[in-house]
Amino acid sequence: MANLLDFDIDRLQAALLARDCSATEICRAALEAIERRNPELNALLLTLPDRALAQAAATDARLAAGAPPRPLEGVPLVVKDNQCLAGARVTCASKILANYTATYTATAVARLEAAGAVIVGKANLDEFAMGSSNENSAFGPARHPLDPTRVPGGSSGGSAAAVAAGMCLAATGSDTGGSIRQPASFCGIVGVKPTYGRVSRYGLVAFGSSLDQIGPMTRTVRDAARLLGAMAGHDEHDATSSLHAVPDYLAELSEEAGAQDLRGWRIGVAREAFGDGLDAEVEAAARAALAAYESLGATLVEVSLPHLSYAIADYYIIATAEASANLARFDGVRYGYRAPGVTTVHDLYALSREQGFGPEVKRRILLGTYALSSGYYDAYYLKAQKARALLRRDFDQAFQACEILVMPTTPTPAFKLGEKTDDPLQMYLSDIYTVTLNLAGVPGMSLPCGQSGAGLPIGLQIVAPAFEESRMFRAGRALERALAS
Ligand code: GLN
Repeated sequence: MANLLDFDIDRLQAALLARDCSATEICRAALEAIERRNPELNALLLTLPDRALAQAAATDARLAAGAPPRPLEGVPLVVKDNQCLAGARVTCASKILANYTATYTATAVARLEAAGAVIVGKANLDEFAMGSSNENSAFGPARHPLDPTRVPGGSSGGSAAAVAAGMCLAATGSDTGGSIRQPASFCGIVGVKPTYGRVSRYGLVAFGSSLDQIGPMTRTVRDAARLLGAMAGHDEHDATSSLHAVPDYLAELSEEAGAQDLRGWRIGVAREAFGDGLDAEVEAAARAALAAYESLGATLVEVSLPHLSYAIADYYIIATAEASANLARFDGVRYGYRAPGVTTVHDLYALSREQGFGPEVKRRILLGTYALSSGYYDAYYLKAQKARALLRRDFDQAFQACEILVMPTTPTPAFKLGEKTDDPLQMYLSDIYTVTLNLAGVPGMSLPCGQSGAGLPIGLQIVAPAFEESRMFRAGRALERALAS
């Protein structure tokens, strides 16, 4: 039989329901792939073989008893290690949480499990999801599956590497400023940042609460639609989760729904997103995708996001401000690491944080605290909120003229380990196309649209108005098919 981990979820479900394979066989194949590839890639921080095999056996028993199949029956899933799974460690790739065990399960994760997914492990990330390369992990970097001298992207680098390397069929990521889309783009997979509020954040360790969203990372657009359908929707544990009904994303992608026909669609091409600093090969791949859209019947329209050049500065004020507040709870008293041998309360706080947090996390706490301090608040934080409103307005105006926007996901393909670690600003600039969506609250998806001369994947980003993920899936699926033919 073909390698089960090369399947997409549609094919895996068909094989499972036809009894061509069992959930236990699928699970074993995933665990073997992890054993084979993880020592080199460091994509997973924790493997859960016993738990996964027990879950798979329960799935097989359920199906044997004739229970109706659930949407993710037997699908091996990896969960980013900043999302809680009751009884398992949740480290956020930080020394400060190295020995912390979750007491409850994140809603998005619980919903995926309830849909039949089998959780095989927890994925490496940049510490507290801060980074674009996975090099900020306290447990060592994750590596790119196609070229281990390169980064898989970040912060959901372990999730992306695990999906791309065939250790699982799907993973969860979290995206505050691009952490799902950028690693998806680097590793040649599909990654979706949902509309803010589409997916519950309950059980996601907070980084920037007004920006964070959990989302799916998969091999195909249909798989991403399937996962989002399972995890989205209101949750009473998260007051910011939306009451909007969740459409049947997968059904909307069927042939009968006319999903391939993009006639009448206007595709917005933001002038500012094709400017300086964009790698020539990435630009060429994005332009080829635009041409493919035209051949599918869509019309290209030029639109403008006039405030795009402020997005990085804006994001790194708002995200660090929120992070400085969110990370105050890690103080050696309530959670995780406590500095040994301290005699005063001051030392308890100061040394636990000094020893527990890595350098990037400290840099951000300092930046955020500064931006929020009295005397600087108006100049930085308040100004950043105003700029955020302008960015949101840019998208509102652009969407008057088009159904979706298309732009590169990242300015370059995957870079080498160490290439940007000495220059944080250079690292931050690689988020130029992604952070804007989080500031505006709109959904975005990265999907593969080509390769560089060196054989590295290149991603295209599709952006839709808030709560219009269906459009993104439809346009993504159409392109995926056009590029495959
Ligand atoms: N790379 C961005 C940052 O470092 C985004 C991180 C994220 O989305 N979690 O903040």
